[in-house]
Amino acid sequence: MPLILTAATTSIMTAVSKGQGAKLSRMAPLRNLNMRAGVQSTPVGSNQVSYKLAAKLQVVGNQAEPPCTPCAARKGPFVGCTRMDNFCGGVSAGWYYGGHPTRCSFWQGRRKLKANLQRRADELQQITRMRKRMMRSEERERG
Ligand SMILES: [Zn+2]
Repeated sequence: MPLILTAATTSIMTAVSKGQGAKLSRMAPLRNLNMRAGVQSTPVGSNQVSYKLAAKLQVVGNQAEPPCTPCAARKGPFVGCTRMDNFCGGVSAGWYYGGHPTRCSFWQGRRKLKANLQRRADELQQITRMRKRMMRSEERERG
């Protein structure tokens, strides 16, 4: 069945954006904009960059299988969990919307943060070893 775009979807996809938003606008819509019932805000007609970008991503993104943890629990502004590796930091559309990327289990910053912490821990271990060596050598010098 061909996808018939709703007015909201057309409005989102034709909303003027720069950068990532402009790229998303050039992609083929895979589904209509689908907001969860009870969501107070709307990306339609909004000037908020994260709203527009997230809504475009929801329309053209890949369906995440399995979905991220909060989307699987039916949280967030959009129905379903759609994302793309090189857009919005890899998070699903609903968590980019309004700026909550760390809530999405696809957030790639988590991996970077973990690698950073591991490097710091390794450095600290090295410093501790050096300090012990220095203390031992000082003790020997004192006799
Ligand atoms: Zn998700």
